[in-house]
Amino acid sequence: MVDARLARILKLVRRHVPDLRLVHKDEVRWMRWVGGLLRPVVPEFSSRYTTVMGRTVFLPRPARQMPPRVLASTLAHELVHQLDQQRWGPLFYLSYGFCLPVGRSLRAHWERRAYAVDLLLARERGGEPELERVVDTLVDLFSGRSYLWMWVGRSSARAFLEPVVEAVRTGDLDHTEPYVSILKAWRGTTETREEEWASRA
Ligand SMILES: [Zn+2]
Repeated sequence: MVDARLARILKLVRRHVPDLRLVHKDEVRWMRWVGGLLRPVVPEFSSRYTTVMGRTVFLPRPARQMPPRVLASTLAHELVHQLDQQRWGPLFYLSYGFCLPVGRSLRAHWERRAYAVDLLLARERGGEPELERVVDTLVDLFSGRSYLWMWVGRSSARAFLEPVVEAVRTGDLDHTEPYVSILKAWRGTTETREEEWASRA
């Protein structure tokens, strides 16, 4: 049986990326090569992290082996990157990869936009305690080696994330795209069903 939430998220993603491809990293030779290159610093690159380029989402496991909820939240995060990539094109890739790669990177700007989804879903799952737990994880991710020290220093990483955390806490982000659509798809609220009816009319 197809998980209803995952189906809604997939439908939303395909609205923006009609030719979406979900690929297992291990099956792509150049991805294995990148994984090998990064292994000394980020050994989990192939086994834990998802990477997205355009229509292709490179997953650490085959999609059908991932719990639907995990795959749905991963695809929601990656959708923010895909929309930013569509909007900014080469500028996205250049700034993600090369500009100030360490310390205070533009990569952190893009990841903060995408991790806002993870923060929203944490709030949905378990309110303030779960939100705080995920913020702690993100502080490690932003300041540590996982993304090649994209915002060094735990306290400055926390300060950098704080405006987004606050916007999630107050509900301000719920009114901003693409988060509005992601939340609707995640919750399966009536608006989504109304849109479906409208599209049939
Ligand atoms: Zn990301």
